[in-house]
Amino acid sequence: MAGMTLRLDRAQAGKSQAVGTAVAMQFADSTNMKPTSGTTLSLWAATADPPDESPLSKDTSTDVCVIGAGIAGLTVAYLLAREGKAVTVLDDGPIGGGMTVRTTAHLSNALDDRYYELERLFDESGARLAAQSHTAAIARVEEIVREEKIDCEFERVDGYLFIPPDGRLKVLEDELAATHRAGLVSVRRLERAPWKASIPAHVCTFRNRDSFTRSST
Ligand SMILES: Cc1cc2nc3c(=O)[nH]c(=O)nc-3n(C[C@H](O)[C@H](O)[C@H](O)COP(=O)(O)OP(=O)(O)OC[C@H]3O[C@@H](n4cnc5c(N)ncnc54)[C@H](O)[C@@H]3O)c2cc1C
Repeated sequence: MAGMTLRLDRAQAGKSQAVGTAVAMQFADSTNMKPTSGTTLSLWAATADPPDESPLSKDTSTDVCVIGAGIAGLTVAYLLAREGKAVTVLDDGPIGGGMTVRTTAHLSNALDDRYYELERLFDESGARLAAQSHTAAIARVEEIVREEKIDCEFERVDGYLFIPPDGRLKVLEDELAATHRAGLVSVRRLERAPWKASIPAHVCTFRNRDSFTRSST
């Protein structure tokens, strides 16, 4: 495959800056990254230099080959390397490109598709799994940032879900109930948004550290 390769081994994956940089790419500095889809340009695409890796030029052997150097592939590669596996990452585009370069970098367990919709499609257990996995993923990112000392201004903040002025209040009420059934018991209804703005009064807040319970509430 013509493409960039990034080789991670155990020594690199311990506490090294190299791995930290790779994983933090979506937060780092850059100039040449171009979006590979869509029409908007993220801050990172506009201002950061993607890591420069050479194309794979000869046969190589590895324990695991990961195709795709976006956040998912690099996280898998990083975690495998930490377990002592030799990992080769292949991509036919820039490292940290794909959708990853376009993220706004919010990590959230408030899901665009809505928990009540996940319940409809996958039952309560499926919605709970989504809540659990997103909550765990945020904790894992936080842990990696801390362990690798990645300077990306990671911060936990509350999130607010509100309905537009012409939206239906029931949507918010259904979502609040579904988040609780999904185990996100600290999501709360607020009387109004805690900032001075023309934001509508009907708001739910997702706390910066959600308590997740395994049993339904
Ligand atoms: C505008 C925008 C804003 C977003 N904001 C957020 C946000 O705030 N928070 C959030 O959590 N998510 C956000 N997302 C979603 C998030 O960016 C994606 O879910 C995430 O980046 C997907 O990562 P990925 O590694 O799965 O895929 P990608 O980042 O797309 O990586 C896939 C990689 O695989 C490579 N590849 C694919 N096929 C092949 C092949 N055959 N051979 C070689 N290489 C291949 C591609 O080149 C690419 O580099 C946003 C998305 C967009 C578009």
